[in-house]
Amino acid sequence: MMSGPSLCQPVPTAYNPAALADHTRLQQHLLRTERTVLIEVASGDATAPADRSPTGNHTVRETLNKRLAELDQDDFLFEGGLVAEDGELPEDARTQIRGITPLKSGAYLLEFNFAEGATRFRTYARNPALCFPSSILGQWAVIKEKAHTLIFRFVSCGGMFDPSNRDHLDELEQDNNLLEGAIVSASWLKRADHRSLKQTVASLKVVCSSAEAANHLLQSRVFVAGHLITIRKDVQEPTRCNKCQHYGHIRNTCKNEERCPSCASSDHTTAECSISFTPRCMSCGPNSTHASSSRSCPIFKRLCDDLDHRFPENSMPFFPTGEAWTGPPPHPNRPHLQQRAPRRTHPPSRATRIVLTMTFLPLPSPPLRRQSTLDNFGYSATTSSQLQHRRRTGSVPSQ
Ligand SMILES: [Zn+2]
Ligand SMILES: [Zn+2]
Ligand SMILES: [Zn+2]
Repeated sequence: MMSGPSLCQPVPTAYNPAALADHTRLQQHLLRTERTVLIEVASGDATAPADRSPTGNHTVRETLNKRLAELDQDDFLFEGGLVAEDGELPEDARTQIRGITPLKSGAYLLEFNFAEGATRFRTYARNPALCFPSSILGQWAVIKEKAHTLIFRFVSCGGMFDPSNRDHLDELEQDNNLLEGAIVSASWLKRADHRSLKQTVASLKVVCSSAEAANHLLQSRVFVAGHLITIRKDVQEPTRCNKCQHYGHIRNTCKNEERCPSCASSDHTTAECSISFTPRCMSCGPNSTHASSSRSCPIFKRLCDDLDHRFPENSMPFFPTGEAWTGPPPHPNRPHLQQRAPRRTHPPSRATRIVLTMTFLPLPSPPLRRQSTLDNFGYSATTSSQLQHRRRTGSVPSQ
């Protein structure tokens, strides 16, 4: 598999007091991400912890840490590692969960003392003989791997390519020089039965098994069923309700009246809307002249800016792998180092533009492109049922 060039020093992991606030926040965000592991717990699993109160969560954390200490000890003794005179592992070598956050979905987000702790936790969990962490978090508890999700655009949807057919995904891997299994799954962003009859191309969500595979595609000319397509990284997006068209919630929790996403009328659905109706945005009000789904809506743009601020990974053109070129942009005050993204064969995305800005390279002006299927933790959040609720592409995806 092709890998990116290593042109510069590794990403600094220590606090740099000279760095700008945005740069520091991005570094901190990446470091925190590396230290977290998301555990999915099956609903109705009677062997999962029943008490999800702060006290119950504290107990779960302590139980996990106790088991981790035993596993670390065994591991170090087996590996011939150094232990202190009392036979205990030194404090800084122990895998410890520093924080445990129960999520509404039933999952637990674990934060470790250091990135290596999260890696070691994954190694223990992969060993079926250890029954870990299922012996503590429930028999169906599994680690949910971070999503490396890409959006393929202008993919022919005329029937040649079927993302639900594994043979087609295998072919996609071969055509694009990927290792077997590099593509975990693919699905259309919009349901096939919601397309117009004239539609010949559509957007495809592609989940890669590794950051390396996703980065390889981001640097390549990508072909699907023999056709060159455009591709970009999935980023965090504002959530828009596909019932009332307002931002901040989804249809399942909506108590408002249903509105047409194009003209905001409550009299008809999208399919019944005519181009003779004046576009109107529910968020911007009666004087607006754009649709609620418009990507040029000022409210949408403001929400995007807020998300970029909260999730600085949005501004990174690649998935971080530890190699410097995949990491955060270089220090903005030192623009002359050779730190630049690998050669691209298609126009840079909005995210790439941000990096180019920070390295003071000449700027092209590609159109704004956003469309997210990620949740707040960088894990793939879109289930097939959520996908079934997607109604409009070529516009802001709503939920
Ligand atoms: Zn709503
Ligand atoms: Zn309408
Ligand atoms: Zn608007």
